[in-house]
Amino acid sequence: MAKPLKPLESLALEKLSEESLPKPLDELSDAELENKKLVGRVTTYVLKYLSNKFVDNGFEWLLPVVFSKSTDPLWPDPGASIDKKVECEIYGETVKTTSSMIVHKMVACSLAYPKLFTFSPNIRIEKRERAYTGIHAYEFTQLDFEVRYASAQDIRSLVEKILSGLIEGLKKDLREELVALGRYKTLREIELPLEVYDRMELLKKHGDNWENKIISSSSKPVWITNIPREFYDFEDFKNGRWDNYDLMLPGYGEVLSGSKREWEYNKIVKKMDRDNVRKDNYQLLLKLAKEGKLKPSAGAGIGIERLVQWIVGAKHIGEVQPFPKIPGVVYEL
Ligand code: AMP
Ligand code: MG
Repeated sequence: MAKPLKPLESLALEKLSEESLPKPLDELSDAELENKKLVGRVTTYVLKYLSNKFVDNGFEWLLPVVFSKSTDPLWPDPGASIDKKVECEIYGETVKTTSSMIVHKMVACSLAYPKLFTFSPNIRIEKRERAYTGIHAYEFTQLDFEVRYASAQDIRSLVEKILSGLIEGLKKDLREELVALGRYKTLREIELPLEVYDRMELLKKHGDNWENKIISSSSKPVWITNIPREFYDFEDFKNGRWDNYDLMLPGYGEVLSGSKREWEYNKIVKKMDRDNVRKDNYQLLLKLAKEGKLKPSAGAGIGIERLVQWIVGAKHIGEVQPFPKIPGVVYEL
């Protein structure tokens, strides 16, 4: 297997101290509450814009789930750093809280909804030290979407178009808010197409620190492809290339991960065995794959809070959450 990525640390890392971690609503000054309201308006715009676009493009809007027997293993994703998995017993069965809806998406997209999206709460109990990366929360929301028979390129083109339209719309419709947040001038409209870089090439050119290099030197979002990770991302066994992609935001880091998916039983089993992923956690997915009912698809998940964080220029992701979920910090709400 190719050399793993070094986990991403935000560029904000050095600037964050314990005192600068986001506070809960009831401890904010009047000025900080004003700021929170502006971020709320931006968030509302983003949610409305994105959901309209997906609906207009023929996607079905699914409501999310929280408890399931099967969820994303987040392994072997080199970017993941999970302190503990949350499991509990209901009706005599052990269920996990959603770490992402990838399994649900693959099943739903194959069986019933060829184009689907959902705003899904993800619970990931990140390690405490991630409080200071500025870009990790222990609860966040993914706009997760999937398209049957789509290619990786189809998904990247769709995302680029939606993202550039979003920024254009924000600058037109929310000028006052962006000015007040100090982001009107620095948030540039996105010229398409975006650059696509192969992770192996970047690793060769910049070494282990390639991720920070890319984030600090790009003025607009860029795509990274060919990233070794979980079993559900498509891997070409002949040439070892992964048909997947991350979208990186300048100054912040990864805002989206996605891929063309594996759908063939033998490949999925082989990858689960190789990565020590427990097959009994994915019984339904494996059954459908074995019966030929799992269909080829591609899709992605966008971290909503991280997207808003970049738009408003917040130092810490908790600043854009009404109820900050900072790793290691548990407020009452
Ligand atoms: P992943 O499934 O890990 O690739 O995550 C998909 C997207 O969710 C990422 O690109 C981020 O935008 C967002 N994300 C992942 N982990 C976190 C986290 N701990 N806090 C906030 N957003 C996250
Ligand atoms: Mg990712």
